[in-house]
Amino acid sequence: MATEQMNSKLKVGVLAATGAVGQRFIQLLADHPWFEIAALTASDRSVGRRYADACHWLLPGGMPPAVADLELVPTEPAAIPQAVRLLFSALPGNMAGPYEESLAAAGFAVCSNASAHRMDPDVPLLIPDVNPDHTALIPIQQARRGWGGHLASPPPGSEGSRERRSGFIVTNPNCTTTHLVCALKPLHDAFGLTAVNVVSMQAISGAGYPGVASMEILDNVVPFIGGEEPKLEAEPRKLLGTFTGDAVALADFVVSAQANRVAVQDGHLMAVSVKLKRQAGLNEVAAALRGYRSEPQRLGLPTAPDPAIILHTAEDRPQPRLDRMAGNGMATSVGRLRPDPIQDYKFLVLGHNTIRGAAGGALLNAELLAAQGFLA
Ligand code: NAP
Repeated sequence: MATEQMNSKLKVGVLAATGAVGQRFIQLLADHPWFEIAALTASDRSVGRRYADACHWLLPGGMPPAVADLELVPTEPAAIPQAVRLLFSALPGNMAGPYEESLAAAGFAVCSNASAHRMDPDVPLLIPDVNPDHTALIPIQQARRGWGGHLASPPPGSEGSRERRSGFIVTNPNCTTTHLVCALKPLHDAFGLTAVNVVSMQAISGAGYPGVASMEILDNVVPFIGGEEPKLEAEPRKLLGTFTGDAVALADFVVSAQANRVAVQDGHLMAVSVKLKRQAGLNEVAAALRGYRSEPQRLGLPTAPDPAIILHTAEDRPQPRLDRMAGNGMATSVGRLRPDPIQDYKFLVLGHNTIRGAAGGALLNAELLAAQGFLA
């Protein structure tokens, strides 16, 4: 579906719209060619208030005027206008599970940032550049959970006709996993991976707002991020796994992860080393990274970066402050590619955590779903 083919914009909602990721969604959706915001939810603390009154806006450029007067509603099917087809979820991970399930059961398409359903066997864990075919899990999910062909009611008091539609959940990976896997994908395709070692240096915005206390992070590195290392070790194997017709067979390599919080505002940096199945020269590895193009570029999705991977040759790049906004925050930057005396190659990977690593990743997922016909 090309941009010019969209006659009217699809109405979307943002769940947990007042937080760090919720604000990114609102910023990225403000001028989107295919989607427009029609509903915003937040916690009981904020429900019933104007968005502008309840939200402590933190992003440069100010709050988009179109959302300022929207009233925050509860995260419940009955509170969200039936005209809304798609919901972007920035719900806290510990509560997202049941909320997202009840919304999908009510016929909404849910694109979630939260970890709750990422590893469910029937839920796509999706990066359009990496595994666009894994959306084939959606009909399997709908059949297994009884979410197909829901008959949506028209909005109360309206004369609209009842419409048949099916709900589902699609997730995007953890913010660090996203950029790691964007860089690993061309190597896995070309040479195969057997082992990956990753040490992350993660920005404070990854902890949400207000997040890590300034007294803990200034002049410091915190060598632990709760729950992060298991996600970094598990999610890449699903993302790079193979759709077998009714499930995803996990990719056959091992990941060892160590996650650290550093005093950077935005942008996660990772020191990565990889062992390959097939021997490859440095130039071959560089060419695989530099030349990588995938489905989002072929389809011309509005939020897709092109190139998706930027390979730096300067010895002191990528850096968070200089490179996190590459491709409008959607590209993955790789640098310092060189042989590794223990594994085969080592390199640095950097990417924006709240754009491609969170809201932008979910938005690109939704664009792929629209292009594949799942949002009709
Ligand atoms: P955050 O800044 O702490 O925001 C939390 C949000 O959740 C607020 O909008 C809050 O609303 C809302 N909320 C709390 N309880 C709710 C409820 N019952 N119903 C609806 N909304 C509720 O967190 P964040 O960084 O945006 O993270 C959001 C999600 O994205 C998490 O699952 C996180 O793991 C994931 N994620 C974050 C990043 C990142 O880089 N930050 C990256 C990838 C994924 P009130 O304002 O009303 O309290």
